[in-house]
Amino acid sequence: MKKTSSAAEPRTVSGTNLEYARSHNRRAVLETVRLNGQLTRADLARLTALTPQTVSNIAAELLDAGMLLAGQPLREGARGQPAIPLTLNPDGAYAVGMQLDHQMLVALALDLSGRVRARLEAPVSRPSPDEALPLISDLLQRLRRESGLDWGRLLGLGLVMPGPFGVEGMTSVGPTTLPGWEGVDAAGLERALGLPVLLEKDATAAAIGERLYGMASELRNFVYLFIGAGLGAGLFLDGRLYTGGRRNAGEAGHMMVVPDGRPCDCGNRGCLERYVSLQALYEELGIAGGPLATPEHLAARGIDAAGERWLDAAAGPLRQAINILESMLDIDAVVLGGLLPPVWQEALMARLHPLPLSVRSSSGERVRQGSAGRDVVALGAAALLVFDEFNPQYEVLLKGGRR
Ligand SMILES: [Zn+2]
Repeated sequence: MKKTSSAAEPRTVSGTNLEYARSHNRRAVLETVRLNGQLTRADLARLTALTPQTVSNIAAELLDAGMLLAGQPLREGARGQPAIPLTLNPDGAYAVGMQLDHQMLVALALDLSGRVRARLEAPVSRPSPDEALPLISDLLQRLRRESGLDWGRLLGLGLVMPGPFGVEGMTSVGPTTLPGWEGVDAAGLERALGLPVLLEKDATAAAIGERLYGMASELRNFVYLFIGAGLGAGLFLDGRLYTGGRRNAGEAGHMMVVPDGRPCDCGNRGCLERYVSLQALYEELGIAGGPLATPEHLAARGIDAAGERWLDAAAGPLRQAINILESMLDIDAVVLGGLLPPVWQEALMARLHPLPLSVRSSSGERVRQGSAGRDVVALGAAALLVFDEFNPQYEVLLKGGRR
């Protein structure tokens, strides 16, 4: 175990200042409009508990910046001025999301409403930072050209790749991480690319995408289990993203769920991702490390006898993990998503029932199907920037890293 550095770090408590309060309030207004679709200033004052004057100032600023649009005045009773409905301007800002994994770089440009405005991809082979950076730069230029979007409104780039970051000796080894990226941080990428960069793990980004644009927008407490090359989790607790002390929360793939089970590259045995991951599936199918080890091949191949064996081997450990997460966190749901093609994901979900008893036993749908497919992560990567623009809490979280 690495010793923690808490003794060396000063213990600080963040205060609030006017500058911070202003940016917090701006985000609160934007997020409230986004969640409700269309609101008047009076609605906004009521829903955000801000004074009408503050709402009015922020609305003017956001209209001026093109983030909000003013609609036709609504007649409101006999007295008072007509109320003007405010909506989010989809073209108010854009974000680029990229997913870099062992085989592919997927890049897309998203507008504020979550619509994909341009998409590109390029094959890669376990690229080092020196190999990947020119390609990232090139795809950024091509997205700009092909989308025709006003790049002056670009919030930045969300880049997602297999984590974890800054952990020595444990999971930064093995087939599910990329070589040479251990020391790379967002600040270095910003300098190299000349635009704001948020660097995040695939599971966290996918969870944010699901929270922002997907089926989890109504869930306050959920764990998003992301089946990729490995297995990771994004944790939303009490409506907030939980990332842990060193931003490595959600390493669910290395929860030991099978005593004396299959050996894992992390040094332990019986880790969840040795059973539930694309890598585990590729191994069962005998295609690990080869050219067929891709989600596209899985989708085309369908579920054969070897696939059934993998489903059988994966279901037990996954049920155990769900029980642990539910019992520990009292979440509304576990959302299952990732790069596993939909037909495989549905088969795996069907195989989970009946779920073990837990504090969640008596309530609704405990395991829900999240978005699946090739673009889930790149979408989440772009959503990071949008989320950062809207969610007061994520901004605070990122202060140390990006600003
Ligand atoms: Zn492990």
